[in-house]
Amino acid sequence: MPIKVLEPEVVSKIAAGEVVERPASVIKELIENSLDAGATQISIEAQGGGVELIKVSDNGAGIPASELELAFHRYATSKISNIADLGNIGSLGFRGEALPSIAAVAEVEIVTKTSSDSIGSYMYWRKGDVVRKESRARPQGSTITVRRLFRYFPVRLKFLKSVNTENSHIAHLVSQYALAFPEVKFSLVLDKRLSLRTTGNGDLREVVNEIYGPELAQRMLKVEQKDGLAKVGGLTSPPSLARSNRNYLSFFINRRWVHSPLLTRATEEAYRGLLMDGRHPIAIINISLPVQEVDVNVHPAKAQAKFCHEQAVFSSVQKAIEGTLARTAIASPKAEPFSLSPGQWQSPRMIMDIQPDFVVAQLPTLELPVLRVLGQLANTYIIAEGPSGLYLIDQHAAHERILYDRILTQWSQKEVEVQGLLQPITIELSPREEETLKATREFLTQFGFSIEPFGNRSYVIRAIPALMARANIIEVISGLLDSLASKEGLNPWEEKVAQSLACHGAIRAGQQLSNEEMRELIKQLEQTKQPRSCPHGRPTMIHLSSHQLEKEFGRIG
Ligand code: ADP
Ligand code: MG
Repeated sequence: MPIKVLEPEVVSKIAAGEVVERPASVIKELIENSLDAGATQISIEAQGGGVELIKVSDNGAGIPASELELAFHRYATSKISNIADLGNIGSLGFRGEALPSIAAVAEVEIVTKTSSDSIGSYMYWRKGDVVRKESRARPQGSTITVRRLFRYFPVRLKFLKSVNTENSHIAHLVSQYALAFPEVKFSLVLDKRLSLRTTGNGDLREVVNEIYGPELAQRMLKVEQKDGLAKVGGLTSPPSLARSNRNYLSFFINRRWVHSPLLTRATEEAYRGLLMDGRHPIAIINISLPVQEVDVNVHPAKAQAKFCHEQAVFSSVQKAIEGTLARTAIASPKAEPFSLSPGQWQSPRMIMDIQPDFVVAQLPTLELPVLRVLGQLANTYIIAEGPSGLYLIDQHAAHERILYDRILTQWSQKEVEVQGLLQPITIELSPREEETLKATREFLTQFGFSIEPFGNRSYVIRAIPALMARANIIEVISGLLDSLASKEGLNPWEEKVAQSLACHGAIRAGQQLSNEEMRELIKQLEQTKQPRSCPHGRPTMIHLSSHQLEKEFGRIG
């Protein structure tokens, strides 16, 4: 094909595709515009996963009637005017791309009024053209309605996920903005159902309460630190409150929500040695930096940032969180026995200085010999003797393996043992958890859960899998929803469910076991198909063969 310049219509679709990836991206752009306009109230509504309808109303400054049409032009913005401004971006928007991009891939209606215009103005855009334009009354602010998203962009429509998945992205997104702007009153209605409402009274804990529930709201620790470069503020979890994925890490730079591997690492670094393997902190952190210190003009979606002094930002965040954790550790010295985290013990070198070739993963046979329990070490490992030497068994990992196998077997044979609860348990879900539950509730019943809606993001749990009878049910459910929502791992749902249940239902490190219990655990482990590794693939045991022992003690050469 010869080289030619693309038609403007194609160009605008290509550009729009970068800004508007999915319905949640439309909502993101509209919320950012409302915030830039100084709104203190933002209501968001979506139907059909945002494809049928998105409506965002605010009480911000509004757009003057004389500028309304211009606002839909590409690169038309009131927020910056020259190159120098690009280095000093204080607003969330600045590229002048959102409104034209949305109008290129959907039908858009806008009603807006400023304080100086005597009446509001209305405009209706279809396929990138104005089809109606008139005056309309409304109080100061703007309402933008977006219909039939991607209808004229079938490639993108094809890639969208189910309504539930899109709703869960929307719920997550709005939650993030509510966390970043506690002084703004947000409401989110999904398919006519109120999903989230914040009061806008400026209290971050109150927003956390709305989104994640009262336990987190009460227990999260305050982060507040200022150094030469940055001010780091927000809330972070005590080590005893952790999650199985990184969905609960929210970072804002000058209150812009960003995805930042750097900030994730800085936070996790602060928790080093305090969390079990595979557990992640919960944190809501805003970093205030001079605007010249960050470049947010990295991608059209503006969700990434580059720092002039990366290392300095990293250490500001790490130190701020470490400071918070250290202060609390002093205040409550009875912290959980986290030093016993299995992760730290995985290498036998740390127990005694021996050669690394004793790691179990290298042992060829899968079956376990009959073992005799000798005792428990650090309330975490079972010490056992077998025909060919010594075994150290991680009680949590071993129990996880047992439960995992049983759960999957019961499920595949359709013989799940169910335990009805005499006293039903009520659980409050975050907006995002609720969307995940709606998508997976039927599937979860196959595992023995009976969970019924109770209005207002509350759910009543009436029955659970019998294998979970001793677990903390609220933790089980939120762990389960976490792992079903996470994109990490492409495992089928049933494996995710079994893994998550096994992990939450298994006895923990630090728990004292009687000889009887240890014998029973080992007996059950012997009957599993892969007794030597837990469902996450980590070893359940370390084996020191008689031969190795003799070598270590210099009995043989
Ligand atoms: P940008 O936000 O990058 O400037 P947009 O295309 O998102 O570009 O918006 C274009 C312009 O329209 C903004 O600069 C702003 O002046 C105006 N605008 C958009 N939405 C609103 C709103 N909700 N309230 C007031 N003004 C708005
Ligand atoms: Mg914008």
